[in-house]
Amino acid sequence: MSLMITDECINCDVCEPECPNQAISQGPEIYQIDPERCTECVGHFNEPQCQQVCPVDCIPFDPDRKESQDALHQKYLKLIAA
Ligand code: SF4
Ligand code: SF4
Repeated sequence: MSLMITDECINCDVCEPECPNQAISQGPEIYQIDPERCTECVGHFNEPQCQQVCPVDCIPFDPDRKESQDALHQKYLKLIAA
């Protein structure tokens, strides 16, 4: 499941450099997560790193983007091969 950034984001820029998959970028108004690049940090860390650092807790799991651990691992393998 990819994570998503809600409109509570205060554009603090803390999460972007923490993402091992370069999935986070500044959008038109707030930061955003590319679901094609977010693996929940599977393959890199045990916990989603962006969630750990966000000072306002505005990075939940996206319920519309459910993926199995295996699917996340496959995504990770594809990203590191690219
Ligand atoms: Fe990046 Fe991990 Fe956050 Fe996904 S959960 S956006 S891979 S830091
Ligand atoms: Fe927004 Fe949270 Fe990222 Fe800061 S850490 S830019 S508040 S999503």
